Amino acid sequence: MPAYKAPLRDMRYVLYDVMGGDDLVALPGYEDFTRDLVDPILEEAAKVCEEVIQPLNRSGDEEGCHFENGMVRTPKGFAEAYKTFREGGWTAIACDPAYGGQGLPAAVNLLVEEMICSSNLSFGMYPGLSHGAYVSLHGFGSEKLKQTYLPKLVDGSWSGTMCLTEPQCGTDLGLVRTRAAPQADGSYKITGTKIFISAGEHDLVDNIIHLVLARIEGAPEGTRGISLFIVPKFLPAADGVRNAVSCGSLEEKMGIHGNATCVMNYDGATGWLMGEANRGLQAMFTMMNEARLGVGVQGLAQSEVAYQNAATYAKTRLAGRALSGAKFPQQPADPIIVHPDVRRMLMSIRAFNEAARALVTWIALKSDIAHRSADAKERQAAEDYLGLMTPVIKGVLTDQGFANTVMAQQVYGGHGYIAENGMEQFVRDARIAMMYEGANGIQALDLVGRKLPKDGGRALQAFFAEVSAHIKERGADKELTAYVTPLSQALGELQQATMWFLQNALGNPDQAGAGATDYMHLFGLVALGYMWCLIADAARSKAASADGVAERMTQRLTTGRFFMERMLPAATTHLARIKAGAGSVMALPTEAF
Ligand SMILES: Cc1cc2nc3c(=O)[nH]c(=O)nc-3n(C[C@H](O)[C@H](O)[C@H](O)COP(=O)(O)OP(=O)(O)OC[C@H]3O[C@@H](n4cnc5c(N)ncnc54)[C@H](O)[C@@H]3O)c2cc1C
Repeated sequence: MPAYKAPLRDMRYVLYDVMGGDDLVALPGYEDFTRDLVDPILEEAAKVCEEVIQPLNRSGDEEGCHFENGMVRTPKGFAEAYKTFREGGWTAIACDPAYGGQGLPAAVNLLVEEMICSSNLSFGMYPGLSHGAYVSLHGFGSEKLKQTYLPKLVDGSWSGTMCLTEPQCGTDLGLVRTRAAPQADGSYKITGTKIFISAGEHDLVDNIIHLVLARIEGAPEGTRGISLFIVPKFLPAADGVRNAVSCGSLEEKMGIHGNATCVMNYDGATGWLMGEANRGLQAMFTMMNEARLGVGVQGLAQSEVAYQNAATYAKTRLAGRALSGAKFPQQPADPIIVHPDVRRMLMSIRAFNEAARALVTWIALKSDIAHRSADAKERQAAEDYLGLMTPVIKGVLTDQGFANTVMAQQVYGGHGYIAENGMEQFVRDARIAMMYEGANGIQALDLVGRKLPKDGGRALQAFFAEVSAHIKERGADKELTAYVTPLSQALGELQQATMWFLQNALGNPDQAGAGATDYMHLFGLVALGYMWCLIADAARSKAASADGVAERMTQRLTTGRFFMERMLPAATTHLARIKAGAGSVMALPTEAF
């Protein structure tokens, strides 16, 4: 059975030693979030995740959800665990205190999110989807809608969904067909079918609040004619009468079996417009930044739990002898961790996880600044970073997170393929994060097509300037050369790639389309490399400390060196692919496929 231990020490190190999380208290509204307050929250979250949620991961996967008479039953133990989770206030941590929330900084919330998703991704999606609905409603609902729905979403007695996808469209939401007919009382009758709706129906809560994209009768075609509606399963304004929304069936799927993926039918269901008519996609996209960061964290979370199990296994599984001579001669064979190839896999995952956690925390702090700072310029700069990095975090952390679960499975050899050991579940569960909330190819296009040119490239220039300044400042420092020099090269390659797009893609957009995924990964490598420079900088100042700290810091420095020597060089390959352009990609006629 796989195990999970929340990496609290690493989390605290990143938040406080690397990213200066103590400064959170300087932001208006965050005065109380001192280390003394945050630490017990992280510890308590770890306890709930390790003791309540994680033990249901495997059984939830085996049992899956049940569909009976239009109702969905979650796997055994989920309802009780959700009750504990909800009563512990965990559905409220990232929500506005005005509606009963605890208003925790995003930087802390995303660390908790990582623990939840490492423990049990299927379970975590129920409150995760509710939070997406909460964010949209909080941003775009009228005060009346907010008063009716937010307190219940915040306390977790109701849950939420995001209903975008239809059989004929997922990425291209301009093709949405669900209709909304205006009624005399200001409400709408919603009619249509949504598919793949996570947590669309289940037995954890008293009411389910669907946020639905639909087209008001007579609205323009395409994305300019889509509006956002709130459609509850039970109508609070009519004493809880059942609305005309129902689950038609559950999807059979590759992973996340404990989460209900539903076909939802709206048969003239009563709904209310949220925000402006025909501007539903804008409302959705505002929410999506946050949701996409959350999905990026899912990739990291699966990578972390897979690593922990693979590392434990590698220390106990005996096979062969170390190339340099037996390390455990008293045993019939050495544990596989002595083998460089097994080390290569473990180090690759570890070097990714530590930097990815730092990247998420860095951007989460930007999100806190963007929402809270009293300084408009500072807010703008933070908002710029958030927009730029969201597709990078979503795309790179989920692509690599999945690849890491495969690598961790490989550490187990054939035993990784056997369900009982749990490694194949991590592979299956991690796979979805690359697809939903905008498939990763779409993240790459968002980065290249939208985020790079936005505001005349302001966000990108700020990022380049910050990394360049760091390289200049630390470049002469001998202790840091091993980190700063490779970063400098990779940054140069990213700048070359950007310039190549400017010179070659404006006249032929296929050049950008063909190189977008490589660009996103090149960007991710530079961002992770920059994180390793920050981590190394913080670690070396503590490398002389006593009581085991020095050892941990030396381990961090070594892991960072591994990243710089063995992972960052992939930047060169990405640049070569980008520069190869769209020629051979687009040359074959459609009939040739
Ligand atoms: C388990 C699960 C849970 C889900 N949960 C939800 C949910 O809660 N709510 C919800 O609304 N949806 C949900 N979805 C749907 C999910 O968000 C979509 O599947 C996803 O957005 C992709 O849409 P699609 O499947 O229609 O693929 P398509 O849009 O058909 O895309 C197919 C492929 O083509 C690529 N592609 C498409 N257009 C372009 C383009 N212009 N340029 C380049 N490449 C392109 C895509 O990247 C993808 O690789 C869920 C899906 C699954 C499987």
